[in-house]
Amino acid sequence: MEDRNSEGLGKKGAAKRLHPFFMPWLEPILNPKCKGRNTLENTLRLLIELQEIEKKVRTLAKQKARAPIQIEMMKEEESKAAEKLAEKQEMLTSAQRFRKELEREVEELEGRQKKSKQRLLEVKSNKEYQATLKEIDDIEDLVRRREDQVIEQMEVGESLANEIREHERLLSEAHKRLEQEGVQLEKEAAKADTLIASLEEEKERIKPQIPTEMWQKYQMLSANRGGVALAPVNQSTCQVCHMNLPPQLFIDLQRNERMMYCPNCQRILYWVGHEAYKQSSQLPGESE
Ligand SMILES: [Zn+2]
Repeated sequence: MEDRNSEGLGKKGAAKRLHPFFMPWLEPILNPKCKGRNTLENTLRLLIELQEIEKKVRTLAKQKARAPIQIEMMKEEESKAAEKLAEKQEMLTSAQRFRKELEREVEELEGRQKKSKQRLLEVKSNKEYQATLKEIDDIEDLVRRREDQVIEQMEVGESLANEIREHERLLSEAHKRLEQEGVQLEKEAAKADTLIASLEEEKERIKPQIPTEMWQKYQMLSANRGGVALAPVNQSTCQVCHMNLPPQLFIDLQRNERMMYCPNCQRILYWVGHEAYKQSSQLPGESE
């Protein structure tokens, strides 16, 4: 202890002469001058926090960006429902118009038939009589056909009326969804803005506490590694790229004395078994 104290733990080489019962979490208490580890621990903790903050910001920004798209989709759904309803209403109107035309035609045919029947009483020749009879029959046929069509149109009208009721329901649902969920989405987007602002503030608070070179290193790694600059290590495995670390590297990492990087993905490593990082790590089943 004495020896280490005088040399300063942050210096290279000190790690190799550790006491066999060395307990890293006790070191800052037992040895207050041991600034090297303390600083490393702080920096790592801050970087972990920073990564969490940036992750949250990204999630919130994504949510926020999704809101207008979802609202637009709901608006589209509503206008489609309105279109469909208008289409059915138009079909019903034309079915009703057609039915009225048919009914008018039936009336007219019945008038003609009545006249023909009267003429039947006045005909002079058998030929004329037969011709008039045929005319009456033909009209009769036509009336029957038209009446069938009237019934058909009534049925069409009924089924259209049912469809219209269904489309009215769908339209009102789409409208309600837009009113409720749309408003909710807008509220959430506004809330996301506030949260992002407070997270950015938090980031600004952390930034001056991180050594500039580590801040830059972190930013570079984060930009090139999909926003993940730090990788937790659990049971000697990098939890991001899943590489099994060489045994000596894992031992050194557990000592927590210097910044270490994954030989495979180059991310900044921290061991989840260490007291200082246990809280920060979000891995399930964090046992050593
Ligand atoms: Zn890795």
